[in-house]
Amino acid sequence: MKKVYCIGELLIDFVAERQGSDLSKANVFTKKAGGAPANVACAISKLGGNGVFIGCVGEDPFGKFLLETLKKEGVDISLAQLSKTFTTLAFVSLSEDGERDFVFSRGADRELKYNPDLRKNLPGNILHLGAATALLGGPLEKTYTKYLFDGLTKEMFISFDPNFRIDLWKEDEETFIKKCMPFVEKSHLCKFSLEEAQLISGKEDLHEACDVLHKAGTKIITVTLGKDGTLLSMNGTKKVIPSVKVAPVDTTGAGDSFIGCLLYQISDLGNFEPVFEDFSLVEKMVAMANKAGAITTTNYGAIVALPTKEDLEK
Ligand code: ATP
Repeated sequence: MKKVYCIGELLIDFVAERQGSDLSKANVFTKKAGGAPANVACAISKLGGNGVFIGCVGEDPFGKFLLETLKKEGVDISLAQLSKTFTTLAFVSLSEDGERDFVFSRGADRELKYNPDLRKNLPGNILHLGAATALLGGPLEKTYTKYLFDGLTKEMFISFDPNFRIDLWKEDEETFIKKCMPFVEKSHLCKFSLEEAQLISGKEDLHEACDVLHKAGTKIITVTLGKDGTLLSMNGTKKVIPSVKVAPVDTTGAGDSFIGCLLYQISDLGNFEPVFEDFSLVEKMVAMANKAGAITTTNYGAIVALPTKEDLEK
């Protein structure tokens, strides 16, 4: 089983206890581990794969809690870094239909330093770059870009998820798009939401959007469509792979669960060649990843709600 190096943020989600409550009125919050790339590492390890997390937390009780949470899920945290800066915090409220709203107080996640020793371990493995806060500047953004270029060897498989957050890029979407482009160009697999595919490609029509994004460089595109499943686009074929019917209570982490499950399956292959050539193989993998995403929506929180292999087989 190959390693999946997930690089980016790990933070505390303070989730407002009462669903449907406005953040300004919320009084009671529950502390949960969050951060898209960290969720993906957990999703992979929870399924029995080798999720490795590379990110930075504060040398404080929150940072300690976060790393312990990842370790408990079986994630390799040996490459995580500690900073004197406080751990990044996010405050989250959920609306009645399970959609979320959040604000950030950014701290240690931006401090991640480049580790040149990692370069020799990358070949043969998978690199997952789940952007979110990583494109907001600071040492993390530089580190991120360096790892992208380190990963550009024949033996690597690179995955990218832009994790666009409107609250972080209000009035500066052009910068976000510009910063995403090198990752879309160089990554083998890109996972977008519908909004991200349209935003980054500049095309409203999903098929046209995929064509623009393929032209930029990426070979495999998945566009997650919530309850409607996922569009898979590769080798000139596009197909929506339906999701499974569930009663969602909280959609937090569904996308991370999806991409985690997809990468877990890719990490279990002897080599990456079939992923580029065999549409029906990737289609089956996406169907399984849809199931993982759907299961995640049926429980509150991100990491707790991620399925195990047994949950998927049920
Ligand atoms: P995130 O906001 O966490 O980054 P996302 O917008 O990328 O997530 P979604 O489309 O919400 O991701 O969900 C990912 C996958 O999970 C979907 O492609 C789908 O397969 C599954 N999924 C999500 N919501 C539902 C739902 N309500 N019912 C069934 N499956 C769902």
